[in-house]
Amino acid sequence: MLGSSTLANILLVGQLKAAWRAVVQSRAEAETSARRLAFLAKTSTTLASSLDYEATISSVARLIVPTLADWCTIHILEDDGLIRRLAATHIDPTKEKLVHDRPRRYPLAPNAQHIVSHVLRTGQPELYPFVTDEMLVAAARDPEHLQVMRTLGFTSYMCVPLLARGRAIGAITIVSANARRRYTQTDLTLAQELAHHAAIAIDNARLYREAQDAINMRDQFLSIASHELKTPLTAVLGFAELLQARARDGGIMSDREQRALHLLILQSQRLNDLVCSLLDISRMRTGQLSIDRKTIDLCAVARRVVDETQPLLEKHTVQIIEPCTPLMIQGDELRLHQALQNLVQNAIKYSPAGGPVIVQAEQRGDEACVTVIDTGIGIPAEALTQLFHRFYRAPNVAGKNITGMGIGLYVVKHIVNLHGGRVSVQSQEGIGSTFTICLPCLAEPSPLDHPEGDN
Ligand code: ADP
Repeated sequence: MLGSSTLANILLVGQLKAAWRAVVQSRAEAETSARRLAFLAKTSTTLASSLDYEATISSVARLIVPTLADWCTIHILEDDGLIRRLAATHIDPTKEKLVHDRPRRYPLAPNAQHIVSHVLRTGQPELYPFVTDEMLVAAARDPEHLQVMRTLGFTSYMCVPLLARGRAIGAITIVSANARRRYTQTDLTLAQELAHHAAIAIDNARLYREAQDAINMRDQFLSIASHELKTPLTAVLGFAELLQARARDGGIMSDREQRALHLLILQSQRLNDLVCSLLDISRMRTGQLSIDRKTIDLCAVARRVVDETQPLLEKHTVQIIEPCTPLMIQGDELRLHQALQNLVQNAIKYSPAGGPVIVQAEQRGDEACVTVIDTGIGIPAEALTQLFHRFYRAPNVAGKNITGMGIGLYVVKHIVNLHGGRVSVQSQEGIGSTFTICLPCLAEPSPLDHPEGDN
């Protein structure tokens, strides 16, 4: 017979053991939960690090093996409706090749009774905690396939869909080749959370790649179209100028015909300028726009732009303010002429009521600067930061019937940057705008450069 105190002691020991088991279990759960959170945090960081499509998919595979699996594959449903294996990795490097070769030997049909196809069709995950050899025999297509599956190892298996924007874009197959790791519902939940992050990252990378492809196609089209347009345009312009010269030299042409010819030349020149700008844009995109530096006087370039522009104006005046001494720089005269012409043409175009345009050239410290000032429509403050972006036009031009493509300032900035200079703008809507380009001046020759000058 047990005494009452002995019984109480036994009960107490039992309670203590149960409490200890509860402590151990809750500590194990806390550790599992911490590991799970750390794994998901690492997943987010890794997936956020690249927008490259292939790199993102293989980084998902590398996250899964070895933490969650002994080997895994990632299948993606592609635009042509086919399911392709885009990543595969195995914990055992000697079996890596086998897992890579597998889909090539056993291609996956979209409507096949294969688990990956099924998961993609239903959008639901599948979990097989125990995979037996009988199951492998039943699933194998032929003895070679069976041998491959046995070599890779299949003891427990999960397949989770990659869901993005409401549809399954792929599936991750997660396999344990080790009898000590049997997947549970908890593992499936973790795999689904991982697949959720992965699907967003893969979908973003795919959208980014599509956007890049579309941009490249547009640039290619721009380049081809502008080259194709330039050839006939040059011929039209050339022959029109020839006719005009003949008419001037005493050819028979009525006033009306001469005016029409003049208009034809003006419009062809305008078209030519636009085509040249498009060509420049595509050259800039491919890094082919280069500058040919020579020692030049920036003042003289600005003066030439003003002299060429003034005779064509009716409502505007363009005046140059320049220093007494030249502003010598190392620069590409043609390209700087183009940049200053863009600024002066804009000053005129965006002053539809007419008025003065001032071009001021001056030396500021060790920089040569040209400022173009107008009293036109100005630019809204919120548009100033985007003004030099490609194809950007400020909102206040809408409805004013001022044509443009938003290329000129982008070209100006690119040319100025190539010269190691900078371009800036100050403007007030309804009052006017001031654009300034500043380029490094040519360094004064140092007496040390000419030692003979010391004698
Ligand atoms: P475009 O004139 O062909 O639209 P630009 O790249 O030369 O292209 O100019 C981009 C935008 O900057 C213009 O659409 C216009 O909104 C604004 N802008 C440029 N210059 C001026 C100016 N002098 N005054 C007012 N707005 C200007």
